[in-house]
Amino acid sequence: MNLSFEELKKEINQKGINLSHQRLKVLEYLYQNQCHPTVDQIFTDLQKEMPTLSKTTVYNTLRILAGVGLVRIITIEDNETRYDIVVENHGHFKCESCGSIYNFRIDVDLLISEDLKNFKIDDKNVYFKGICPRCLSNINEKN
Ligand SMILES: [Zn+2]
Ligand SMILES: [Zn+2]
Repeated sequence: MNLSFEELKKEINQKGINLSHQRLKVLEYLYQNQCHPTVDQIFTDLQKEMPTLSKTTVYNTLRILAGVGLVRIITIEDNETRYDIVVENHGHFKCESCGSIYNFRIDVDLLISEDLKNFKIDDKNVYFKGICPRCLSNINEKN
């Protein structure tokens, strides 16, 4: 993410979206925690400082931001929708030990298959799973 938060806010204004204080907080949360949070995570964390926040507000804000392409909705496990403020194409690595999801750079344009030559592709997702370096070093320390 190369945009500063101020630039991001400007971009949203230019798209004709007026974000209320609570909605701005949701955006700010995504911007500061680039950890691919779920709605529940965002809601639980933000409710601590904004007791009047409702989950519906969080949902609606995410929907609006996704609608204008500023937030990407990603599903890694079937039952788990996460939100990503990095909208450029990139891959995801899920650590099966700590559950963190890491971004990695990958040129998805290079992922092509003859088998799909007659298909219109709207979205390409690359997911890897394994153990992240932090967990690996924890495991090694214990041994
Ligand atoms: Zn890990
Ligand atoms: Zn991501």
